[in-house]
Amino acid sequence: MLITTRGIVLREKQVGENDKFIDVLTNDLGVIEISAKGARKINAKNSPASQLFAYSKFCVQKRGERYYLNSSDPIHIFYDLRLDMEKLALASYFAEIILFSATSEEPSQEILRLMLNSLEFLSSGKRSKEFLKSVFELRLLSEIGLMPDIVGCAECGAYLSDKMYFIFENGIILCPTCYDLNLHAEAAQLSLPLLHAIRYIVLTEFEKLWNFKISDEVQKKLNYIAEKYLVLHLDKHFKTLEFYKSICSKEF
Ligand SMILES: [Zn+2]
Repeated sequence: MLITTRGIVLREKQVGENDKFIDVLTNDLGVIEISAKGARKINAKNSPASQLFAYSKFCVQKRGERYYLNSSDPIHIFYDLRLDMEKLALASYFAEIILFSATSEEPSQEILRLMLNSLEFLSSGKRSKEFLKSVFELRLLSEIGLMPDIVGCAECGAYLSDKMYFIFENGIILCPTCYDLNLHAEAAQLSLPLLHAIRYIVLTEFEKLWNFKISDEVQKKLNYIAEKYLVLHLDKHFKTLEFYKSICSKEF
């Protein structure tokens, strides 16, 4: 049976001289592993479409639990990513998060869109890497069921306060009256602009997701909160994150 799908290559694994396995985040099958015979040969017909971070149309054959590449067509190749080590490192971190958290055989249109848009902005340089990283982290967690509950104080429902406290462990916010330092040691204070930014990222409709601006000061805190919340809740040490941070020139 031949299946046609669209997706982005998140990982390549070399097999022998000329073959490879690719992990592809598809729009309708979740993340699948495809065996690409001969794709590593120079001038192989499937070579451009099956390289890392290529967004392509794949025609695959399913035999048992395995997918075999029949033919492929590149839709978009983010060439610019390869020219910039920091961009490539951040894209690899995004890919590792998806590979770790996305399940196969599940529709994943929103995650695919999130990845494609993030790579597009990363590639073009239209938004800063730190901005794209925070938006990706918080939105991805929201898409996979780990959306922080930040509409109001989890205890009394207070919607706005000069400062709110974000509790990392359960992803809630508390107002100063309900916040107890002894109970919630792992908390971050949220200024109003920061609270608005987090609300926007997790709740806004997809089309508007990147349409907001924040100050460097707010970005710096958002960066800290998004990363810490992700690492805590996925409970995973991401090697790609460590690498990204080790080579990253400070944007602040
Ligand atoms: Zn309260």
